[in-house]
Amino acid sequence: RLPPAQDAPAAGQQPGPLKVTHPERVVDPATGVKKLDVVRYYARVAPLLMEYVKDRPVALLRAPDGVEGQRFFQKHLDTGSMDGIEELDPALHEGHPPLLAIASPQGLLAGAQMNVIEYHSWNARKDRILRPDRMTFDLDPGDQVPWEQVQEAAQLVRVLLQELGLAAFLKTSGGKGLHVITPIKRLHDWETVKGFSRALVQHLASTLPQRFVAKSGPRNRVGKIFVDYLRNGFGATTACAWTARARPGMGISVPVAWSELDSLTSGAHWTIRTVEQRLAIGNSPWSGYAKAATSITGAMKKLGFRP
Ligand code: ATP
Ligand code: MN
Ligand code: MN
Repeated sequence: RLPPAQDAPAAGQQPGPLKVTHPERVVDPATGVKKLDVVRYYARVAPLLMEYVKDRPVALLRAPDGVEGQRFFQKHLDTGSMDGIEELDPALHEGHPPLLAIASPQGLLAGAQMNVIEYHSWNARKDRILRPDRMTFDLDPGDQVPWEQVQEAAQLVRVLLQELGLAAFLKTSGGKGLHVITPIKRLHDWETVKGFSRALVQHLASTLPQRFVAKSGPRNRVGKIFVDYLRNGFGATTACAWTARARPGMGISVPVAWSELDSLTSGAHWTIRTVEQRLAIGNSPWSGYAKAATSITGAMKKLGFRP
């Protein structure tokens, strides 16, 4: 049912050698995944992952004591340089130290050597930082929401986006939920895009209030799904496709075809341990992504949203 796997990565897309300290250190006691397994994982998925982080500011989630220890986001080069991780022009984020981007696959490995487990990225690229090129709809199920309702919610989000003439691409989050990504033309500013994404979510919540909630906070979402539009603001990040998650079980975020939605068992359907079976399929479920970006102008009108 899926299109054929993409061609082998171009030369230069595969990272070179790296010295890994404490390779045997256990990162996730639940699975026994070790630091070296994480480094190897990123070496395997680097060509796939690079497609979606290239030229974007990133946040790195580090877990020096494993997934059960303290974890923290790193957005700047606080602790010295990392091979393959670049500092962006400070003008992109005035009043802050330079933002970071993954310049090459080597950066993913250098990160893993520094105990980075998760890679999160912005919805804009460095050459036009004030014009987001995608919207992220982060489907967060509240407590007591059965998985089938998460699947159904993703389908409903897709239908709404399609009705508005927008594209929708699906990925597992590697955690509890799913992410729906809409590539857009870089014509509008953050305020407009975030406002529109909020309007979309509010539309869903008012049309299907028994299923969706537009307000964050665990108490609001018991038995419901919060479609988090807050991922669409300036400086916000979302776990990128193919990132591993610093959680017990070590789920990974994987692009999937809509035809596969019914067969998914959770947001952590694939993990570091099971990635091998998915590598041949790679990014092919999102093969139409690059050409799918549309202007949101028509969609805003249809929804009755005025920026
Ligand atoms: P799940 O499917 O389990 O919800 P998720 O990656 O969607 O996994 P969320 O808690 O919904 O996790 O968060 C969505 C995104 O928001 C994260 O991927 C992350 O990039 C960003 N985020 C959340 N909390 C923070 C934080 N404290 N600092 C920076 N970014 C954050
Ligand atoms: Mn989420
Ligand atoms: Mn969220």
